[in-house]
Amino acid sequence: MKLILIILITLMVTSCKNNNQQNANGTSEQNTQVEDNKIKDLRIHYHSNNKYTLNDKNGVLLPVFKLAAEKTNVNIISTANPVAQKSEEELILQAANKFPDDIYGGNNSKKHIYAYAEEGAFIPLQDLVDEHAPNIKKFFEERPDVKKALTTAEGDIYMIPYVPDGGVARTYFIRTDWLKKLNLEVPKTVEDLEKVLIAFREQDPNGNGQKDEIPLFNDKWEEIVRTATLFGARVYGNDSFSERVVLDDNDNLYHAWTHEDFKNAFIEVARWYKLGLIDPEFVTRKQNTARQTLLAKEDRGGVTHEWLASTASYNYNEEILKANPDFKLEAFLPPSYKGVDGFEEHRRTQVKPDGWGISHSAKDPVAAIKFMDWFFSEEGKIASNFGIEGDSYTLVDGKPVFTEKVLKSGTVNQFLYENYGTQYMIGYAQNYEYEKQWTVKEGQDAYKLYEDADPYTKPYTPILNFNKEETATYAKYASALHTYQDEMIQGFITGKFDITKEWDSYVVKCKELGSEEIVGIYKSAYERYKSSN
Ligand code: CA
Repeated sequence: MKLILIILITLMVTSCKNNNQQNANGTSEQNTQVEDNKIKDLRIHYHSNNKYTLNDKNGVLLPVFKLAAEKTNVNIISTANPVAQKSEEELILQAANKFPDDIYGGNNSKKHIYAYAEEGAFIPLQDLVDEHAPNIKKFFEERPDVKKALTTAEGDIYMIPYVPDGGVARTYFIRTDWLKKLNLEVPKTVEDLEKVLIAFREQDPNGNGQKDEIPLFNDKWEEIVRTATLFGARVYGNDSFSERVVLDDNDNLYHAWTHEDFKNAFIEVARWYKLGLIDPEFVTRKQNTARQTLLAKEDRGGVTHEWLASTASYNYNEEILKANPDFKLEAFLPPSYKGVDGFEEHRRTQVKPDGWGISHSAKDPVAAIKFMDWFFSEEGKIASNFGIEGDSYTLVDGKPVFTEKVLKSGTVNQFLYENYGTQYMIGYAQNYEYEKQWTVKEGQDAYKLYEDADPYTKPYTPILNFNKEETATYAKYASALHTYQDEMIQGFITGKFDITKEWDSYVVKCKELGSEEIVGIYKSAYERYKSSN
């Protein structure tokens, strides 16, 4: 797939450049007042969460997009494949058709949109924003960091992104009912945490007479890898499991997964695994099922590092409370290690690589940008975060409040995606208030604990704009390198590979697979990022 991408970029050079200028300057042939009032078709190819299109599962336009279309005088035609699994791959497929629709986007689409834009497949948006998108313009003025993350060295912006809100994301959670039962304190050091995990393992806190407790677990194996941060190593550069190039305290970028700190941390993680402290099924367990299985179904899980709102909600899970009314899962801060303060690596990013851009084929770029702009208007902000008034929310003292049917839906996000198109990862600004409304007390406590203690002491790798050559380099190496690293790290944790013996050859192999080349493109993109305004 990566090779196809490179070939397609090359093929598109001549085909797109010409259309580009003409459309970017507006629509000379459609400038009359009469034309402006006519309802225009907008063909949109978009996937949210790698699967949802702008239509519901019956092929009907979702209410939020229906509202947006009415308000901006357009007719939306959703062109994305309704059964697709990966928006990145869908975009690459669309490149073969030279992006015939008006708007394209999806998860992790930024690298692709920017790479194809270099060939003229997407039009620059900054002038359109200045002239026709007052709400986006205002947003960029309020959030110059977001604007900067989107602007190329040439000063072009090609995508309107999903901008998350709220800082605290994943936090550590521990079974405080188990602590109480075993007469233990909330751990403040990693050394104490180890003792607690061993006690969970050995002392039967779930009281079933078996040593079946899983002291430390996560919903995704990539999150188990982040256990290394307890031992002082950095793992991910930002809120993405594929972002393995990390900014150190001295503003230098390095490959975290080949660093000496990483090795030393994984010697400890492997030791924990051998002690039986880490979920033995962390590789084979179906992703995103660990919390449901180990908390709700089996009452065996002790400590996890997961998203606070969804994790805290287990405190109110009826299945759990019926079996164990004492169940209590509460947040604790990253513990210190060898006298050095702990840190929390994970938080929400300033801007996500998800969003949408306008194709060179767009017949009316002004109508397209006006449609995108609506989501940043007061009305659009409420719709994209809360849905439809009188249905998914009501206004209370001027503020949107979710209705019972949303709050009682169990899986709030999924309910919103599927029934409204709300919280879709289109170009929009999230309002954390949406999540707060369904965050239970223990989740709100977790947020406050982390916000007050502020363990976010490590720099974040910014979302960088790769140019065409850098994108090609990334595409050439990243996939094979990450696949190799994934296999080796899993093996280092489980003891299948002996980290002390095999680390050096692992690093050599990573370099052969392009780890240094990848750091190189990050460094050049980061230099441009720092020098741009
Ligand atoms: Ca037990």
